[in-house]
Amino acid sequence: MKLKSRFTKKDKALVRKYLKDLIDNLDLKAKEHHFIVQKRNPNVPIDFYEGTNIYTTLYSTIESDEYIVLSAHFDSVENCTGANDNATGVAMIYSLLSNLKNLKVRNKNVMVIFFDDEEKGLIGSDAFAKMLKEGNYNIHSVHTVDQMGWDKDGDRAIELELPTDYLKKKYSEIAKIHNIPIHISDVDYTDHKSFRNLGYNAIGLTEEYKNKDTTPHYHAPSDTYDTVDFDYLLSTSNLMYSTFKELITEIE
Ligand SMILES: [Zn+2]
Repeated sequence: MKLKSRFTKKDKALVRKYLKDLIDNLDLKAKEHHFIVQKRNPNVPIDFYEGTNIYTTLYSTIESDEYIVLSAHFDSVENCTGANDNATGVAMIYSLLSNLKNLKVRNKNVMVIFFDDEEKGLIGSDAFAKMLKEGNYNIHSVHTVDQMGWDKDGDRAIELELPTDYLKKKYSEIAKIHNIPIHISDVDYTDHKSFRNLGYNAIGLTEEYKNKDTTPHYHAPSDTYDTVDFDYLLSTSNLMYSTFKELITEIE
């Protein structure tokens, strides 16, 4: 089945079912995080937002209460296919999950979340971050991916949005080995903001905005599968896998 967007309640329910099946295929337990939140913007003509995030936990092989959070939003804006924004992020996070599962030793838990309602104002991630805070989870770091399918200049560069010194160092070291240029930006208008607001060590990963090497199809009906640069997506996936492998197996 092909969806024209992931915007309506009905379409998003189909996407959630698809994501849950994918998680099931890895023999992991998919969970729903349902949220209802009051609107924050008086100009929005609705009273509340209701949505559902999908998440799962890949438990450590050595006892640990620490969690690394990996996430991407699955919704799109209206009348937009959202292949780049943000099926690329969802695909990448899922591939990381399936590969990290094959590691023999993991000394941290990995929580993977697919957020609803990013496009309406980071609603799903905000609700999820609050749930983690209330649950007193010990969060090592939070990594969100939003748009990772455009690399016209072919340099494979990515941007790290507001990394802490620790995460900047980790990503930079591994990017050097992969020969991937890294830029640092202070963009905060995607899901990692929700976690930073609550004091978490959060970072966003995206395309190379600095050199304007980012999709021209942003929030347009033309944001389709055939515009996605899969070599670039793979290159970044490999970088992230190496980074997480290190974070999850490092001895502190
Ligand atoms: Zn997005």
